[in-house]
Amino acid sequence: MIEVFIRQSTHLAETRHVLTPSTATAYAGENDTRRPAASADAPPIVDVLGVPFAALSRDEAIARIGAMVRGTGAHQLVLANAHTLNLAAADPAYRDVLRAASLVLRDGVGVAIAARLRGRSLAYNFVGTDFMPLLLARIADPQLRVFLFGAAPGVAAAAGEALRRVSPAIAIVGATDGYGDFDAAARQVQASGADVLLVALGNPLQERWIAAHLAGLNVRLAVGVGALLDFLAGRVPRAPHWIRALRCEWLYRFCLEPGRLWQRYLVGNAQFLWRVARRAPTERR
Ligand code: UDP
Repeated sequence: MIEVFIRQSTHLAETRHVLTPSTATAYAGENDTRRPAASADAPPIVDVLGVPFAALSRDEAIARIGAMVRGTGAHQLVLANAHTLNLAAADPAYRDVLRAASLVLRDGVGVAIAARLRGRSLAYNFVGTDFMPLLLARIADPQLRVFLFGAAPGVAAAAGEALRRVSPAIAIVGATDGYGDFDAAARQVQASGADVLLVALGNPLQERWIAAHLAGLNVRLAVGVGALLDFLAGRVPRAPHWIRALRCEWLYRFCLEPGRLWQRYLVGNAQFLWRVARRAPTERR
């Protein structure tokens, strides 16, 4: 199954969270009057509802994230979809967390439509479930120490086993669930010597937690991964390939958990498109 993730991978995301000089100058959103000049190596940015998405190919993103992990400092990578942006639109503090990330990549067709309405393109869809295993395997050279935080008890450890089968160069240096003491989890991560931290707490909790703790975690890269650990551990089934090919994996998840997801997908998708349509004409370049 994991090999299928890798073969079919089509997504990527990366973030910069710490406001290092190289990252802090990369972007200023539509309402940011400071608007610092873009640094020379900043990726092309497409603003969607005030969040700066990097317009990168899969391999460009992997190269950038790899450089973050090999470099100094601590970076936050965000994979954002329509649900993420709805939450950010309703909560400026959360939007600021996304804006401060080192790299924001689009996850889902809704964000691509929003970019297109502005006359811009975010061509590659960085679906975390496909992209993250591929990314970890590609940057694990010669080795990558990974910590997994989040999901129900036992899931992170099982997901770690799955990731180790992806590449023997991925070393799982710690795993803890997302329903215990979050401060204790931060201490575990800090002591683990991990290069990369995957946080599976869902939006917006995972991005907020990373932003609040990143400076003290002693990791190079932290990324919120939603339900990835559940998928890797086999606790949640993925949609059949033909449904994924139709870009309808969200519909499949909705059918599995309608009680929890109806508001996010049915109400949320309509709300997102309304927000985008309302703003698109003035944002078009
Ligand atoms: N979760 C957690 N602690 C919490 C809330 C959520 O560990 O306090 C986990 C949950 O068990 C699941 C993940 O966070 O594994 C988020 O799942 P969701 O389906 O919301 O992710 P997404 O749809 O964003 O991929």
